[in-house]
Amino acid sequence: TPGLYIVATPIGNLGDLSPRAAAVLAGAAVIAVEDSRVTAKLLRHIGVKRPMTPYHDHNAEGVRPGLIARMGTEAVALVSDAGTPLISDPGYKLVRDARAAGHNVVTIPGPCAAVAALTLAGLPTDRFLYLGFLPPKAQARAAAIAEVAAIRATLVLYESGPRLGATLAALAEELGAREAAVTREITKRFEEAVTGTLVELAARYADAPPKGEIVVVIAPPGEAAPASADDADSALSEALTRLP
Ligand code: SAM
Repeated sequence: TPGLYIVATPIGNLGDLSPRAAAVLAGAAVIAVEDSRVTAKLLRHIGVKRPMTPYHDHNAEGVRPGLIARMGTEAVALVSDAGTPLISDPGYKLVRDARAAGHNVVTIPGPCAAVAALTLAGLPTDRFLYLGFLPPKAQARAAAIAEVAAIRATLVLYESGPRLGATLAALAEELGAREAAVTREITKRFEEAVTGTLVELAARYADAPPKGEIVVVIAPPGEAAPASADDADSALSEALTRLP
C-alpha cells in the first residue's frame, strides 16, 4: 500500500529488527536514510536490496517535497541509523507533511535507546521526561537542567562518552545527589548499567570517559531525601510520633 512507513531499526543487535520491519523494508519503493552505509549494512543482513535516498538535517527541506509526492503512489520507508526515527533523529516534518497531503502514515515500532535504558535503570517509570541531548555549552546546559529540576518525573537523556563527565557534574550541581543510572552500549556486547547518585557517578566518570553510546536516567526529586524544609519538618514530626 502506498504511504509513509516509519521503521524502527536495531540500536546495536541486528537480531532486534522485527520481521514486520524487514518485510516493509523489502517492499519499499525507496528508503529514506540518514546514512546509506549504515542502512546498507542492515539491508545486507536481511538479504534485501532497495533504493535508498539520503534524508538528514542538511538536505531535508530540499528532498521532502519529492518524497511526499512519491507517497501518493508508492511505499516510502523512513529509517534512521539506529532506533526509532523522529526520536532525536529526523522525520517529524516528513510525517507532518505526509498527513497534510492525506497520505497513509504507518509506524513499525521497535528499539528506542531511551525506553531500553528505562527498562535497565531500576528507577520509577510511571512518569518520565525525555530530554534528548542537553546543550553542549556549560551555561546553556546548566539552564536546561535548572528548567526541569522541579519536575516530578524520571529524566532520560542521551550523551556521548567524551561529554559524560561534564554533564554528570552539571547534573549533580543542579539536582543534587539523586539516584541515577548510566546505561551504555545497550543490546551490544559491552552493555552495562552503572547505578549510584549523581554525585557518585560524576566522580566515577570525571577522568574516565567511557566508550560507546550512553543514556543517563535520573530519579525524580524527593525520592530519597526530604526536598524542602516543610517536608523535613513533617518527616521529623512523623518520626517523633513513632518514638517510644
Ligand atoms: N533514534 C534513536 C533512538 O531511538 O534511540 C536515537 C538517535 S540519537 C542521534 C543517538 C543517541 O542514542 C546516542 O548518542 C546514544 O545516546 C543513544 N543510543 C543509541 N544507541 C544506543 C545504545 N545501543 N546504547 C546506549 N545508547 C544508545
